[in-house]
Amino acid sequence: MRVTVLGTGIMGTGVAGSLIREGHDVTVWNRDTGKAKPLGDAGATVADSPAAAVAGAEAVLTVLFDTDAVLEVMTKAVGSLARSAVWAQLSTIGLDGSAKTAEFAEQHGVSLVEAMMLGTKAPAENGELVLLIGGDPALVNRLSPVFDAISSRVVNTGDRIGPASALKLSANAWVGSITALVGQSMALTKALGLDPQLFLDAIKGGAVDTPYAHVKGKSILAGEYPPSFPVAGIIKDLGLIRAAAQRAGMADDLLAAVEARFVAASELGHGSDDMAAVYTTFLPKS
Ligand code: NAP
Repeated sequence: MRVTVLGTGIMGTGVAGSLIREGHDVTVWNRDTGKAKPLGDAGATVADSPAAAVAGAEAVLTVLFDTDAVLEVMTKAVGSLARSAVWAQLSTIGLDGSAKTAEFAEQHGVSLVEAMMLGTKAPAENGELVLLIGGDPALVNRLSPVFDAISSRVVNTGDRIGPASALKLSANAWVGSITALVGQSMALTKALGLDPQLFLDAIKGGAVDTPYAHVKGKSILAGEYPPSFPVAGIIKDLGLIRAAAQRAGMADDLLAAVEARFVAASELGHGSDDMAAVYTTFLPKS
């Protein structure tokens, strides 16, 4: 299919790469063109504006930071969209953001589906994301070659725009919390005079183990935090998650504590680093 990816940050680059590998005709656009250039070398067409990028596309994927970015970029693109094109919104934008995209699509007569990405840099690059899909089944079906190229599995949340974004918040509450917990237990192990590796050894293979602990643990042990899921991204998501929890009348004090840890990581200069850097915020002050 002729597929356009708007936004080639960490996730957009992986998604576009998977689409190219699976033989799709891919056009990319990124605000900072330099980040899109490697995809040009890999076979994509690099467009110099959102409008140029979407012209002639059958599918348009937004993989941008937040709601403002998505609406800003789609406002620039929408005049050039073919009426038959389907817009798949992949960015994590929460409940209000999702409602705003649905309103935008309605106003402009654009066909919209949601495809929330579970998984991070490596699954995006390997075409192994889990996608939380929502929207008109006929539109979802039309995009199945695209979803097949970038995912190993889809979870269908029904025919409305919104539920996929809601489920994504639940998933990211989990991802953010367990990352903070891995950081906390590894820092505690170290603070108690032991090698933090021993925490990973202790949970390995047991009922409380998770592969994620070892992925993040490896980064923590190395003291290196190349971004897979940046601290700035989880802070943005925790804001969306807390807003949704508060609106639902749910206790959000645990979420607030997790958010505070990531804000502390950002204040230590780790905003662009991987969220595993939350570990550093637990260490005793020397
Ligand atoms: P990223 O590497 O920070 O990329 C963000 C992208 O948004 C970049 O292309 C950036 O352009 C663009 N952008 C930001 N503000 C913009 C604006 N005002 N106008 C135009 N473009 C703008 O983030 P990412 O990790 O790829 O995440 C992308 C989305 O996927 C986010 O919603 C994130 O929450 C979600 N997500 C991330 C992960 C993950 O593990 N990383 C997993 C699932 C979902 P520039 O390059 O020009 O700054």
